[in-house]
Amino acid sequence: MTFESLDIIESIIKSLKEEGYEKPTPIQSEAIPIILDGKDLIGCAQTGTGKTAAFAVPILQLLGKDKSFSSRKKIRSLIVTPTRELAIQIEESFKTYGRYTGLTCTVVFGGVNQNPQTAILRNGVDILVATPGRLLDLMTQGFISLSQISIFVLDEADRMLDMGFIHDVKRIIAALPHKRQSLFFSATMPPEIIKLAGTIVTKPVRVEVTPSASTVDLVDQIVYFVDKENKNALLTDLLADEKIKTALVFTRTKYGADKVVKMLRKKGISSEAIHGDKAQNARQRALSGFKAQTTRVLVATDIAARGIDVDELEYVINYEIPNISETYVHRIGRTGRAGANGTAISFCAADEIDYLKDIEKLISKKIQIIKNHQYPMTDLSAAKPVQGKRNHNQQKKGNRR
Ligand code: AMP
Repeated sequence: MTFESLDIIESIIKSLKEEGYEKPTPIQSEAIPIILDGKDLIGCAQTGTGKTAAFAVPILQLLGKDKSFSSRKKIRSLIVTPTRELAIQIEESFKTYGRYTGLTCTVVFGGVNQNPQTAILRNGVDILVATPGRLLDLMTQGFISLSQISIFVLDEADRMLDMGFIHDVKRIIAALPHKRQSLFFSATMPPEIIKLAGTIVTKPVRVEVTPSASTVDLVDQIVYFVDKENKNALLTDLLADEKIKTALVFTRTKYGADKVVKMLRKKGISSEAIHGDKAQNARQRALSGFKAQTTRVLVATDIAARGIDVDELEYVINYEIPNISETYVHRIGRTGRAGANGTAISFCAADEIDYLKDIEKLISKKIQIIKNHQYPMTDLSAAKPVQGKRNHNQQKKGNRR
């Protein structure tokens, strides 16, 4: 399968080639023809699968075809996504793929001054990417009209619900023209999501990709069994290896993220934290520095990290093992994207062994244990007595080095 065989126009193929995209990912080969055909779509896919291009490319092509709008720019496509980071990434993707189309795109999100956003909107844009709150705010103030929207995308719908945006989403949908094409994306499809989809799409075609398994298969996964108090030393030791140009480190708490950053900086390792307590500007700065590789280590909590898309991110380090197994899959999905290689390194303390077991069950795979390292686990007391039997076996494994 090639992009040419999907009938993508030359100006878009040119930018895809410049990005190094040789062939469409599965979600792209499935979704692009359906969207180009003008049909509604329900896509079950998460970030990391090439989902953004799966909707951005055909939207650019469809909007580019309609010449009647070219003189006076009105928002004709709206993409609503739950987080600022995702919104920024989607806008960047539209700009990249649409670089030779003459179409314009902008992004609005909360937590920052609205004036630069409204200044761009005043000049008119073809495509708007938005988080729900700021979008509604600017609609109320009269800066945004949805009356000319021909293609609407609701991205990460499950996350939208998790974050409590359901009422905002409903208000946005109510403001859309009745006649439109709608694309609905969600990583999971529980009943309430299907119900929500039913209020947005008409006669949709359903497209599904199974990213978790494929992402997981592409990533080398290793685990160090280590006492909690030695995790800092292990992390700095690992980072002494210059092969690790950048690493995304996950902690369970915001406080934990800040502590790790402080520790790394003391050791002369450039690092920044990204989490919900950081101001939007600080988060953006941290992310840009990391993308530009001026910051070597980005320490993140799960909420802040979901959706972070860094090209060529090779290392994800789980400073703490997540207690929800799916979170592990999301975390390591930051690396090994769209066919690239990646390594996920996990630090497992005694009281985290059960979490690790659950993860191995979910991914149907044993994570390779690194033996003979400098900080073997000695603290067996922290293992929870209830799970004693299982932990005991695992600890023995962890100590066999
Ligand atoms: P997404 O799922 O949209 O967040 O995309 C995940 C990553 O895959 C991004 O870094 C994209 O740049 C990259 N990507 C998307 N489509 C392709 C493709 N056809 N070939 C190679 N990389 C791609």
